[in-house]
Parts: sequence; structure tokens; C-alpha cells
Amino acid sequence: MNRIQDRSGRRRLLGAALALPFASIGPVSGQTLPLTPACGEKPERTPSQTPGPFYTPDSPRRSSLIEPGSKAERLVLTGLVLSPQCKPIANALLDFWHCDEAGGYDNQGFRYRGHVLADAQGRYSLETIVPGEYPGRTRHIHVKVRPPGGRVLTTQLYFPDEPGNRADGIFRRELTMRVARDGVQRSARFDFVVAA
Ligand code: FE
Repeated sequence: MNRIQDRSGRRRLLGAALALPFASIGPVSGQTLPLTPACGEKPERTPSQTPGPFYTPDSPRRSSLIEPGSKAERLVLTGLVLSPQCKPIANALLDFWHCDEAGGYDNQGFRYRGHVLADAQGRYSLETIVPGEYPGRTRHIHVKVRPPGGRVLTTQLYFPDEPGNRADGIFRRELTMRVARDGVQRSARFDFVVAA
């Protein structure tokens, strides 16, 4: 098997794995967003970014950060945790935090803070809201990804087509999620490539 066939075969395998329904996520439509192209073609690790001043350790483990009664637009974020060789990394811990729809962080409690574990195939999912913006920053989600026994990747995820992206000096295009509007919610996809 030559190299190109090997690559395409690997892509098909990953695509098949992703077609399996995620048991833990909410009312997602049947659509599967396209694979993040970085892995295999550009086997670079996901860039790290500053955690900023608003990280709180020991967040609760939960797959939904949606507050009771919230009218904010829903976001369902799914993806894979992969090694630089494009192998799924099982059981990575992904700790997310972001501001509320008005742009404020909860620095006393754990609103819009929580962690999930990737499954045996490296898949993770989180249900939350589309965060607001605050002065000086474009819309973003903070995350720490901790592979079992590996180094923690701290980074931020961004939304495509945000007017604020161009003016934000921290924004990086490689950290943009693939986002599809899906009626009442947005479905987002991001695959992390981290050292196993
Ligand atoms: Fe922030």
C-alpha cells in the first residue's frame, strides 16, 4: 500500500467511527461535519494559547453546561483527540470554560465551566451555549486537554466568520471550529492533535 492509499484509508476509518451516534449529546441532527483536515495532511499539534485570567481548577464533570431556563443559543461541540500520527487518544480529559452570553465569567462558581472525558475512540462532546464577547476579545472558548499521562494542552477555540476575529491579536485561524447552523442551535467540530 502506498502512502496516499494509506492516508485515505485512515480517513475512511475515522469517518466511520464518527458516523456512530454519540450517546451523550443532545438533540443533534444526523449530519456529520467534515473532518478537520489538519491531521494526516498537516500532522502538527494543536497550538497552545494563554489560559487568560479566568481559569478555575476542579470544574465539575458534566457533558452539558446549559443553565436551567437559559434562552441563549445552543452550541454542541464534538470532535476527536488525536495523536500526531492521527491515532485516537482514549480517555483524555477536556476542561472547558467560557463567558456567559453577556460576556461575563463566573469566577465564584462553575457556570459555563465543566470537563468531559473522551471515550475509547477519542471522541468527546459538550453541549453548551454560544458565549458572548467581552471588550478586547473575539468570541472564544477556553479548553485544557489532558491526555492520560501526557502534557496538558491549554488553548482556545474560535468561531468562523466572526467580525471580531481580525481585530483580536490572540486569534489563530488554526483554532477555528467548523460550525454549522442547525435550526435552533449551532453544531461545532474541532479535533485536537496532542502528544500522547
Ligand atoms: Fe476568555
